[in-house]
Amino acid sequence: MHEMALMGDILQLVERDAASREINQIEKIELVVGDLSNALPDALEMAFTVFRARGIGRLSSNAQLIILKEHAKAKCTVCAHEYEPEARLTICPECQLPSGRLIAGETFKVQSYEGS
Ligand SMILES: [Zn+2]
Repeated sequence: MHEMALMGDILQLVERDAASREINQIEKIELVVGDLSNALPDALEMAFTVFRARGIGRLSSNAQLIILKEHAKAKCTVCAHEYEPEARLTICPECQLPSGRLIAGETFKVQSYEGS
């Protein structure tokens, strides 16, 4: 489950930022996870729970993880049609050419976090 490693990286990143801002308790972390980002929200939640239970760093024992899902969206470079693709590479449903370019859905980032 590579979400364990992803979550570890996220917590390290937030921890470092919190340290630089003298935030002692991290209460909430908001992530944006794209449909095609290769990270599964359920597995991320589970990884977060495991880390939280271990009591690492400044993470509060009541800290919350909020996952904002970003739906995949593609735009055809030939006919400009926009649609929801199921994979990175897709055939445009309008002109049937393999010209769909992904414009959303690959995001994986920390949107914000809160602490005190
Ligand atoms: Zn097209």
